[in-house]
Amino acid sequence: QLSHRLERVASYAAGFNVLADIGSDHAYLPCYLCLNDYSLKAIAGEINEGPYQSAWKQVRLSQLEHQIDVRKGSGLNVLHQGEEVDVITVAGMGGPLIASILDGGKDKLIKVKRLVLQPNVASHAVRKWLMDHQYRIVAEDILEEDEKIYEIIVAEPSVATVSYTETELWLGPLLKQHQTSVFKKKWEHEKTSWKRVLKQLQLGNKSIELEQKQADLNRKIAMVEEALL
Ligand code: SAM
Repeated sequence: QLSHRLERVASYAAGFNVLADIGSDHAYLPCYLCLNDYSLKAIAGEINEGPYQSAWKQVRLSQLEHQIDVRKGSGLNVLHQGEEVDVITVAGMGGPLIASILDGGKDKLIKVKRLVLQPNVASHAVRKWLMDHQYRIVAEDILEEDEKIYEIIVAEPSVATVSYTETELWLGPLLKQHQTSVFKKKWEHEKTSWKRVLKQLQLGNKSIELEQKQADLNRKIAMVEEALL
């Protein structure tokens, strides 16, 4: 049984010929997609031995050895040079790690048509990387499961220059437009926790570093207050 989160990630990665799921853990995502599409080929990449073994186990259990290749290695290194891959999923990691995985494998992304990214935290780091590397965000999603809120960012290479404002990088250019109740809940919660940190900082000894931290938090709080409808 796939989590609601992974099911939603999978929905944006369906319909392609070759998928690479990086940081696949149990390979639930490629197994789910391959069971629903017999013509799909997938690569499940894992850096750690335990999850790598779990991925193979799940692939064998699902009898998908002919469709899914599980490979051990870091990030996009598991993809061979010139290998045909149309869609890459990277889910369940922090935004900076996802950005560094993409950055470390730029040469493997040349022919990739779509990236489906699901950062657990700091999704602005992912959007910043996408903007800096000329990827346009074509869809965004936000959902709550088990009292956690997850964002999904779908991006495709763009010929035209891509530019997002600071607010769009943080809140998401498309999520900000639609502002679902989950979106509002997330940013109300972030704002409250930033305000709490601000209060704690006010108790500390004055220093340039402290003032910078306070200014940064105040700027972010104002940004969210201005953006929320
Ligand atoms: N993608 C699955 C999901 O969304 O449920 C699993 C997420 S799990 C929290 C993160 C996985 O990424 C772990 O299994 C970890 O071993 C793997 N991982 C972390 N850094 C990685 C890297 N640089 N390359 C490949 N896998 C990595």
